[in-house]
Amino acid sequence: MNTFVDRSAGAPRTAHRPDFAVVGGGLCGRLVAWQLAGAGHRVVLYERGDAAGTQSAAWVAAAMLAPLAEAASAELLITELGVASLERWPSLIAQLPEPVFFQRNGTLVVWHAGDRAEAPLFERRLRANAPAALFDDGFVKLSGAQVAAAEPSLGSRFAQGWLLPHEGQLDNRQVLSALAAGLAARGVDTHWNTPLDTMPDARVVIDCRGLGGKPAWPALRGIRGEVARVHAPGIGLTRPVRLLHPRYPLYIAPKEHDLYVIGATEVEGEDMSPVTVRSALELLSAAFAVHPGFGEARILELNAHCRPTLPDHRPAIVWDGARTLRVNGLYRHGFMIAPEVADTAAQLAEALLARDVSASDSFDDFRRQARWADLLHSEHAVPAL
Ligand SMILES: Cc1cc2nc3c(=O)[nH]c(=O)nc-3n(C[C@H](O)[C@H](O)[C@H](O)COP(=O)(O)OP(=O)(O)OC[C@H]3O[C@@H](n4cnc5c(N)ncnc54)[C@H](O)[C@@H]3O)c2cc1C
Repeated sequence: MNTFVDRSAGAPRTAHRPDFAVVGGGLCGRLVAWQLAGAGHRVVLYERGDAAGTQSAAWVAAAMLAPLAEAASAELLITELGVASLERWPSLIAQLPEPVFFQRNGTLVVWHAGDRAEAPLFERRLRANAPAALFDDGFVKLSGAQVAAAEPSLGSRFAQGWLLPHEGQLDNRQVLSALAAGLAARGVDTHWNTPLDTMPDARVVIDCRGLGGKPAWPALRGIRGEVARVHAPGIGLTRPVRLLHPRYPLYIAPKEHDLYVIGATEVEGEDMSPVTVRSALELLSAAFAVHPGFGEARILELNAHCRPTLPDHRPAIVWDGARTLRVNGLYRHGFMIAPEVADTAAQLAEALLARDVSASDSFDDFRRQARWADLLHSEHAVPAL
């Protein structure tokens, strides 16, 4: 497509006006653009970073898909979005032109003997926040021998544990790369390394800038997360392991080829500076305490990024009453909930394009019929956001 920059307007204008412009090509923006292009629309995407996605929170994430384990701190809406999204990832991945590591082998939750008081607290939170049906065959109490049978490499280190057998994980960077290839395959006009501060010309604009969308959304804040990526051949964990701990709750997510993502801190503040010594010590010592083999692991990366977070810790899709949607606030659950959030955003975007939604009454009708009505807001109705 011919693209020229209209400096007077301060934003790129395309010679042929696209149906949709997506601004921000991290996790959410790529998914929305890919879906809209798959429905036959002309889509343009602007991303300030590269096609690999290195500027996004999604690049740093562990990409665990753990709706029940996350219910320890997340409300029902997030759990339900996570359960529904987990079902959709396999078919979504199957349509992408590159392979993506996806696993649904459960989450193992363990704790050291001295921290056993954490276990009933964690279980109580899960039972308070998650639907009872998820516990039927989704929460299995394990003896020490059963922990060892589930993860032989942990041996007799833990006297008890829980297996949450339905949970999953994927490889975040492979998702970003496969989506970039999918955008190309579907003819999306991608503009990598193109930061935009004003919205471009298109019939409908979808702002998916994550924390970069703060100028349009002042209440958005970043919650810093730090992770380590290590190469640890010979450990052989087969699923993500969560360690309950009063100060350093930690997960170890095994990816392909003996790569482990160890995370993650949760620190208030928009601080993208490198990982602190304290956090590195906490993450790595906790991993070493789960399995001493991590002592010989090679540190590939120590990374920090900020999770884009709204005051109520919920994701939101906000219509400005004209031609712009803002999709944001995926916080620490982006991968876990993105298929359903992106799908809902794409449906509303298509309704705006078709003029099925053009005023507050038609928006209200759309909202009433939407599966995830709680995600949908029109700007005048949500002053707090
Ligand atoms: C340490 C850490 C661990 C995590 N672990 C998990 C996990 O295990 N499971 C899970 O589900 N989620 C996890 N997350 C959360 C997940 O990464 C986020 O929720 C998700 O990435 C948010 O998606 P997004 O597309 O809204 O934002 P992002 O992925 O950050 O994408 C936003 C994009 O917008 C671009 N952008 C910003 N400003 C501009 C501009 N002006 N012009 C053009 N482009 C712009 C950015 O470059 C970026 O690529 C984790 C996050 C962190 C930081």
